[in-house]
Amino acid sequence: MPEEIRLERMTSPEVASAIDDGWTTVIVAAGAVEQHGPHLPMFMDAEHGDRLGPEIARRLESALVAPTIRVGCSEHHMAFRGTVSLEQDTFLAVCRDYCASLSRHGFQQICFIPTHGGNFKPLQEGMPALNEAAGERCSVLAYTDLMEVIATWRAVAENATGLGDRVGGHADIAETAVMLAMHPTLVREDLATAGVLPDPDPVASAALVERIIADGFASVTPNGILGDARGATAALGEALIDSLADVMAKRLREQAQELL
Ligand SMILES: [Zn+2]
Repeated sequence: MPEEIRLERMTSPEVASAIDDGWTTVIVAAGAVEQHGPHLPMFMDAEHGDRLGPEIARRLESALVAPTIRVGCSEHHMAFRGTVSLEQDTFLAVCRDYCASLSRHGFQQICFIPTHGGNFKPLQEGMPALNEAAGERCSVLAYTDLMEVIATWRAVAENATGLGDRVGGHADIAETAVMLAMHPTLVREDLATAGVLPDPDPVASAALVERIIADGFASVTPNGILGDARGATAALGEALIDSLADVMAKRLREQAQELL
C-alpha cells in the first residue's frame, strides 16, 4: 500500500506505479466555500471533503484520492456575504473534466462524494454525462443520499451526547464538531448558537431542504444555521467523520457491486 494516497501529494511516477499495481479507484470529494453561520469558517465543506476522501479510500480497496473540488453549488447561500458559488453547469463541467483526466490515466472507477448539500442533486443529474466523459473503460459512481447523511449525523450525535435533535444539517452541532476535530482554533465557539431547528419528521425535513434550495437559506434561517451549533466537541466530530465514512464507503461498495 502506498504511504500517501492523495494525488496532490504524490509524484507522477508514484501515481503511475500505484495505478499499475491495481489502485484503479479514485475518490473525488465535492465541497463548498460558503457561509457556515457566525462561528464556522467558510471552507467547512471543502475541508470536510479533504478529510473524508482518504477515510473513504482506506475503507475501499486500492483507492487513491483526487484533489477536492473546493467550490460548489452554493447559490442558496449567496445572501450571506463571502460565499463563492459555481452554477450547476460550471460545476458539472469541472466534474466532467475530472472524469476525463482521471480515466485517461487508467483509473477504472471514479467515486464522487459530495460534502455539501447543494452538490447532491447536480451530481445525481449529471451522472450520465460524467459516465460519458469517463469513457467505456471507467465507471463513475456517486454518493447521493443527503437525507442519509443527516440521519447518520443525528444518530451519532444522539448516541454520543443525547443532542441528536440539534442536527439540522448546516453549521449545526455536527458540522461544528467536525470542524473542532479538524481545525479547533478556527471555531468561534463563543458565537456557536441555535439556528432554525428542522422538523424531526423525515418528510417535513426533506420538504425544508427543497425550500432552502429553491428560496435560499436566508429565507429560512437568518443566522445561517440549520440546527443548533451548541454542545459540539472534537470527540463527537471524530465519531461523525468515522460513521459518515463508513456509510459512504458502504454505499459506494454496493453501487460497485451492482455494476458487476
Ligand atoms: Zn456545510
